[in-house]
This record gives sequence, C-alpha cells and structure tokens, in this order.
Amino acid sequence: MEELKQRILEQGVILSDQVLKLDAILNHQVDPLLIMKMGREFARRFEGERITKVITVETSGIPVAFATALELKVPMVFGKRKKTLTSDQDSYTERVPSFTKGIVTDIMVAKSFLSPEDRLLFIDDIIANGDAARGLIRIIQRAGSELVGMGVVVEKKFQRGADTIREQGIRLESLVRITGLSDNQIHFD
Ligand code: 5GP
Repeated sequence: MEELKQRILEQGVILSDQVLKLDAILNHQVDPLLIMKMGREFARRFEGERITKVITVETSGIPVAFATALELKVPMVFGKRKKTLTSDQDSYTERVPSFTKGIVTDIMVAKSFLSPEDRLLFIDDIIANGDAARGLIRIIQRAGSELVGMGVVVEKKFQRGADTIREQGIRLESLVRITGLSDNQIHFD
C-alpha cells in the first residue's frame, strides 16, 4: 500500500534502530479513511476463505480488525490483555512478553467466542518478535478453530516474528514491510 508507506514516512518517528513510533497512524491516533482502506485490502486478500470471524489483540489491532470485519460482514473479537493471571474455566489465557512495554502480560479470550466451526482471520498492527501473535495463535489452536491466515499492517522484517509464523505453515500477509531503521531512515523492501 503506497499511501501507507507515504504516511509512515511522513508521520513515523524513529526511536531507535529497533523501534518506530507510529502513534500518529496506528497506536494512538487513527485515520478512519486510511484504516478502512487497510480493512478493504485485507478483505480482498482473504476473499473466498469463508472467514467467520476476525480476531485481534487489544489495543492497537482493534481499529484495523474492525475495518476488516466490517468489510467481510463478520464479527470481530479481541483478546484482552490482563496484568495478572486469572485463569478461569471459561476463558483461554496465554502469557506473552510485550515488546514495547518490556513486561509480561496475559492475553485472554472467552471460550464462548471461539469454536471448532470458526474460520478465523487474525489481524494485527505491527509484528516484531511475534510473541503476542504466537500467544493468540496458541489460544486459537486450543479452541480448535481454523486459522485461515494473519494480516499485519506493518511487518518489521529485521525481526523474526513474521517468519516464525510462516514457518508454522500459517499464511501471513503484510501491507508494508520494513527492512531496517538504520541511519535514521525507514527502509522498505
Ligand atoms: P511482538 O510481540 O511481535 O514482538 O510485538 C508486537 C506488538 O508490539 C505490536 O502489536 C506493537 O503494538 C508493538 N511493537 C513492536 N514493535 C514496534 C515498533 O517498532 N513500533 C511500535 N509502535 N510498536 C511496536
């Protein structure tokens, strides 16, 4: 998505050679028109996959997951992040490290929202090391739902997350791939 690349160049802030701040586009403020274009693009790429639900993790995955679900006319469910492990019988919980916050959190999804009949599309904002994504994928597997694929807005290719997911045989589509943040520049593939 060329428009998204331009917006990242204009509004992204390089914090280090590892972290790109995207608060103006994804993580704090969102442009509904741009988010809807992302949702349409994911819906187009996964057309014909008979998706029954879009799934994401709070917080920053929610707008684009919602846009995708609206396009596909299916519900959207988001994993909740909890600070303490409160395992109860009615929910699936997985513990994941957080890349940006440097802490461990638990992701929780109520069992009632996932079933073996579901064909899920997992949408997220940014993939770095992939810990959050792998946590949600474990929940999907425990529920016995079918994971049709994953769509991420920004794939940081210099970190291993996306590849570890592809190595599991999961289709992963990204709208923009960043190969590096060296020399105070954003490098796209
Ligand atoms: P992961 O679990 O893949 O290492 O990190 C995933 C989450 O951390 C993303 O959903 C995103 O919110 C955050 N994150 C990772 N790297 C970056 C980054 O360079 N910039 C921003 N803004 N968020 C990031």
